[in-house]
Amino acid sequence: MIKEILTAVAVLGSLSILLGIAILITMKVFEVKRDPAVDEMMEALPGVNCGACGFPGCEQFAVEMAKKGELYKVCPVGKDAVAIKLREILKKHKGEVKNG
Ligand code: SF4
Repeated sequence: MIKEILTAVAVLGSLSILLGIAILITMKVFEVKRDPAVDEMMEALPGVNCGACGFPGCEQFAVEMAKKGELYKVCPVGKDAVAIKLREILKKHKGEVKNG
């Protein structure tokens, strides 16, 4: 009885380790590089997700500004204070890979 239990634990333990390794490899292979400017802009934006800028939420706004590399729209909620921060962030990250 003990032998069967130990065998089951060993088999399931080994299987879980193998599946964990497979998940890690899959994560690395299919990893989507995120633009660091988007994360910084998300911290600067109000996070209200109101859509007043014409985008469904703050993240879509940040992604679009990072892709274009310029602040062609302004967040009406954050106004000038946020616009200044976003311009600084975009200037800092100019020339980096834009993957959204
Ligand atoms: S207007 Fe500003 S707060 Fe509203 S969704 Fe756009 S970026 Fe976010």
